[in-house]
Amino acid sequence: MAEFNFDVVILGGGSGGYAAALRSAQLGKTVALVEKDKLGGTCLHRGCIPTKALLHSAEVADVTKDAAAYGIGAQFTGVDMLGVNKYRDGIVDRLFKGLTGLVNSKAITVVAGEGRLTGPKTVTVNGDNYTGQNVVLASGSYSRSLPGLEIGGRVITSETALQLEFVPSSVVILGGGVIGVEFASIWKSFGSDVTIVEGLPSLVPNEDPSISKALERAYRKRGINFKTGVRFSGVQQSDTGVVVSLESGETISAELLLVAVGRGPNTAGLGYEEQGVQMDRGFVLTNERLQTSVAGVYAAGDIVPGLQLAHRGFQQGIFIAEEIAGLNPAVIDENGIPKVTYCEPEIASVGLTEAKAAEKFGADNISTYEYNLGGNGKSQILGTAGFIKLIRKNDGPVIGVHMIGSRVGEQIGEAQLIVNWEAYPEDVATLIHAHPTMNEAIGEAHLALAGKPLHAHA
Ligand SMILES: Cc1cc2nc3c(=O)[nH]c(=O)nc-3n(C[C@H](O)[C@H](O)[C@H](O)COP(=O)(O)OP(=O)(O)OC[C@H]3O[C@@H](n4cnc5c(N)ncnc54)[C@H](O)[C@@H]3O)c2cc1C
Repeated sequence: MAEFNFDVVILGGGSGGYAAALRSAQLGKTVALVEKDKLGGTCLHRGCIPTKALLHSAEVADVTKDAAAYGIGAQFTGVDMLGVNKYRDGIVDRLFKGLTGLVNSKAITVVAGEGRLTGPKTVTVNGDNYTGQNVVLASGSYSRSLPGLEIGGRVITSETALQLEFVPSSVVILGGGVIGVEFASIWKSFGSDVTIVEGLPSLVPNEDPSISKALERAYRKRGINFKTGVRFSGVQQSDTGVVVSLESGETISAELLLVAVGRGPNTAGLGYEEQGVQMDRGFVLTNERLQTSVAGVYAAGDIVPGLQLAHRGFQQGIFIAEEIAGLNPAVIDENGIPKVTYCEPEIASVGLTEAKAAEKFGADNISTYEYNLGGNGKSQILGTAGFIKLIRKNDGPVIGVHMIGSRVGEQIGEAQLIVNWEAYPEDVATLIHAHPTMNEAIGEAHLALAGKPLHAHA
C-alpha cells in the first residue's frame, strides 16, 4: 500500500471531474484524477456525443428520403447500422484521443482503477491511498429503472440502445424526457415504428408547455406515436419481442423496450456517507459553492441535485478548481444554464418558462412574444417550422427564451447571453442579425418585443 499526496484528488473523470482537473492544473495545483473506465465519462462515451452522431445520421436519412422536394435525385435504400456505428465511433475515438492528450499534457496524474472515499480526504484505489488537501467527488450517474422493472434482454437502457447493430422494427420508449424523445427521433428516421409512454401530461415536461405542444404536433406529423399521462404497469418479454402493459389496461407490442426514465446518482458503496458527506436519496448535497458537508470536499456533475447536463458539469468543475485556488468565483446560476434537446425538430431554452416567470414576478409584470419561423427565410429554405418564444419582465430584461425548429440548438449561444447578461429586448433590437440565417429569428423576435417588428405582425 502506497501513500500519495496531491493538492486536489478527483474521483471520476467525466465532464465534472476532468474540467476540475484541467482548471486546477492550470492554476498550478498538483492533481490526481481517478477513473475506473475511460476519461470523458458518460457524455463522451455513452451520452452526448454518440447520441448526437446518431441524430446526424438520422438527419442524413431524412434529407435523403426528402431529396426530391429539393429537386435532387437520391434514393434512400436503408440504414447500415455497422456504418452508422463506425462513423459514431470514429468521432468518439478522435475526441477521446484529444482529451487524453490534453489531460496528459498537464500536471495531472491519471489513476486508473475504482476509487473509494476511505478518509474524509483520501481516495483509495487498488490499495493505494491518494490524499488531497481538497477532494472533488464527480462519480456521475447511471440509467435508472422503475421499481420491479428489470433491465435485460429486450428491455434496454440508453447504453445498450447505443450499441445496437440493427434497426429495431418497433420500439416502446418509456419516458418522454430528453433521452426518450432523442431516441424516438433517431429510430423513426431510421424506419422503426416508435411509441413513447410518458406518465406526465406532456412530452418534454420540463420545457415551456408551448414547446411541449409544438413537439407533440411535430411528432404526430412525423408518425411518432406517444401516450402521455399514462403509467407503465409491466412488461413481458419473449424470444421475439416485448408486450408492454399500461395502467390504462392497454398493451403495446414491440421488438424492444427502451427505459429512459432518468438518471440516478452513482454514489452507492463509494464511502461518501461513511465519511460524513450528507446525502439525499443518493445525491450529494452541497451548498451553492459546491462544498459538501465535509470541509474541503466538493461535488460536481450529475451527483449534485439539479440539471444533469455536461456543460453544467464542466462549469461546476471549473468553479470548484477556482474556489480551491481562492479565486472566489461567482456562484453558478442554475436558471441560466442553457438546455438543448437534439430531436427533430430541436428544442433549445434558457431561463424561466412563462409559468415560472408569472409565479416569480406576477403575471401582470411579464410580457411574452412568439416569433413564428414561418417568417424566417432560412427556416423556409430548410423546410422547418417552429417558433421562438420570449419572456421579458415589463420594462425589464429578457428572462426566458424558448425555441423549437430544426437546428435551433445552434441559436442557444445568443439566447443564453441575452438571458444571462440580462439584456433588454430594446438592446438586442439594435444588434444586427445576418440575413438570411435562422439566427435572424432571434433578432426579429426581439425587434417585435421591443415594439418595432420587421418581418412580423405586431
Ligand atoms: C444518452 C445520453 C445523452 C446525453 N446527452 C447529453 C447532451 O446532449 N448534452 C448534455 O449536456 N448532456 C447530455 N447527457 C448528460 C451528460 O452525459 C451528463 O450530464 C454528464 O456526463 C455528467 O458528467 P459527470 O462528470 O457528472 O459524470 P459522468 O460523465 O458519468 O462521469 C463520471 C465518471 O466517473 C467514473 N467513476 C464512477 N465511479 C467511479 C469510481 N468508484 N472510481 C473511479 N471512477 C469512477 C465513471 O467511470 C465516469 O467516467 C446525456 C446523457 C445520456 C445518458
